[in-house]
Formats: sequence, structure tokens, C-alpha cells
Amino acid sequence: MKPSQFQHHAPERVDEVVALLAEYGDDAKVLAGGQSLIPIMALRMATYPHLVDIARVPDLSKISATPNAVRVGAMVRQSHAERDAAVATVPLLAKALPHIGHFQIRNRGTVGGSIAHADPASELPAVALALDARIEATGPGGVRFIDASEFFLSTWQTALDDGEILSAVEFPVWGAGSGFGVEEIARRKGDFALVGALAGVTLDGDRVTRACITMIGVGSTPVRCHEAEAALIAGGANADLDEIGRIAAAPLTPTHDVHASAAYRKHVSPAIVRRALTAALKEARS
Ligand SMILES: Cc1cc2nc3c(=O)[nH]c(=O)nc-3n(C[C@H](O)[C@H](O)[C@H](O)COP(=O)(O)OP(=O)(O)OC[C@H]3O[C@@H](n4cnc5c(N)ncnc54)[C@H](O)[C@@H]3O)c2cc1C
Repeated sequence: MKPSQFQHHAPERVDEVVALLAEYGDDAKVLAGGQSLIPIMALRMATYPHLVDIARVPDLSKISATPNAVRVGAMVRQSHAERDAAVATVPLLAKALPHIGHFQIRNRGTVGGSIAHADPASELPAVALALDARIEATGPGGVRFIDASEFFLSTWQTALDDGEILSAVEFPVWGAGSGFGVEEIARRKGDFALVGALAGVTLDGDRVTRACITMIGVGSTPVRCHEAEAALIAGGANADLDEIGRIAAAPLTPTHDVHASAAYRKHVSPAIVRRALTAALKEARS
């Protein structure tokens, strides 16, 4: 299949991107790495007469670091982020990136594209949610910031307004004594996860001073498991991780699709959470 005919726009500045989106309205779509958009268009699930390609906007391809956060520009390729020294200071992001598809996909796919696309089985939206990242949005009204907890509205739906682009994401850096784990089940290596869990902990001796647990593939958005986080903080580093997994899975209401039943997704969730936490605690102790 081939996409229907479209006009390709290649602006070189963010304000030009915003102006083109304003000019063409619903007829325009942002093109980043094209790893989700082009298949959707080729399968004629959607048609857009105007694609605004943001690959030639240098300001969107920068990574910068402060002591507390790493700012990743929307157009940073996933494969570039995988090898970046600043991104390495956000270990949950660094660990999640290699789980995305295959290296050919990550060579084209972008950090911002994955988060803006908001697929509930994708790793990077879950990283943003787990770490309480800030999403930088740029539109006709200028720049604003959206907390990740308010960004993912439903499958492929975000809090970006019409005419806005995701311009960057700020990922908080956790301090010493922290560890992270990413675990998932997929039919084959490189496939989207059927179910996944991303976890982080900070230890002070046997005390868990900070915890995050986020699941993918179990709802219409990535799911933050607040009750399980609270139980882990209350129970400490030697908490019963099977029980924490059960607490995380209890409120989940996954749906079924051709890849897995809802019952299967629910059944494996506690074990996936336990594995992610085991890895996170091991790293934090070391
Ligand atoms: C075979 C295959 C396997 C894959 N496996 C996985 C996987 O396991 N895990 C995973 O997470 N992903 C997977 N992907 C998807 C891949 O990670 C994509 O890179 C990602 O979903 C979208 O990023 P992109 O840069 O390619 O965005 P595009 O495809 O260019 O855009 C996707 C959508 O986001 C919008 N968009 C993009 N950038 C912006 C922006 N800056 N501001 C506003 N809107 C924007 C576009 O308009 C479009 O609607 C897979 C893809 C393929 C083809």
C-alpha cells in the first residue's frame, strides 16, 4: 500500500513549523521519524494532504543537561539518545530505549514522536509518566509545560492543543542510591510489548525513599501504579515483591486484542512488576 498524495513541507525553524500547522489546520500533520505515521498513512488508516517534516529544525535535535534534569529535543532520534552521555544519567530512559522495535526503527524514530504518538504499549510515554517528566509544548501562544501525569489522555490522544508541537521533554535525574528496571513480555524480540513494567527506587539503607512503577499494554494510556508504590515505600527494600505486584495489577482493566487476551495481560502483570522491581532494587543496592 502507498499513502495518498501529500505535500511535504520542510521548515527549518520552530516558528515556521507552528505557522505551517496554523495555515493548514486539520489537513496538516507533523512528520518526525515516520515510524508510526507513515505506516498509518500507507495503510490508509489516515490521510493528510500536508506533512510538516520537523527533521530539519536544528533546535529540536538538542540534548542538554542541568544537575536535576535532562532536556531531550523532540527530534532526537531514539538511537542517538541510546548512546548519549546525558541520557545515561536518566537510567530508566536509557534502559527503555533498546526495547523499542529494532535498531532500524530506532535510527529513524524520535523521542518526541514516540511520546506525542502516545501508544499505550510504548516504552517512552511510560518513562515520562514514571519519572514525572515535563512535556514542553510550542504553539501559536508560545511555550508551555505539561506534566506527564496530565499529558496522556487515551490511545493516541494527548493534551497537546491543535497547532501545538511537542518541542522537548525534561526528564528528572534521580540521585545516588537509585536503581531502575524495565521488564516486558513480547511475542518476538522487537515487537510491541504485550505487557511491560518500568520501575525505579531510591534506597537509604533498607528504606525506600522514592519509588515509581508504571505499566504498559494494560490500558488506553500508560498506567502509574500509585498504590503499589506506596506499599513498597511502606514495606521497604525487603518488602514482598509478589504482593507489590498483586497490588499493582489489582486495579488494571486491560483490553484484549489479536495479540493477547485481557485475562492473560492481567495474569502476567504481577510477575512483570516483580521482575522490574527486583532489577531496580538490585541496581540500587549496588
Ligand atoms: C515494526 C515497528 C515496531 C515498533 N515497535 C515499537 C516498540 O516496541 N515500542 C515503541 O514504543 N514503539 C515502537 N514502534 C514505533 C516507533 O517507536 C516510532 O518511532 C514512534 O512510535 C513514533 O516516533 P516517530 O518519530 O517515528 O513519529 P512519527 O511516526 O513521525 O509520528 C507519530 C505521530 O506523532 C506525531 N508527532 C511526531 N512528533 C511530534 C511532535 N514533535 N509534536 C507533535 N506531534 C508529533 C505525528 O504527527 C504522528 O501523529 C515500532 C514501529 C514499527 C514500524
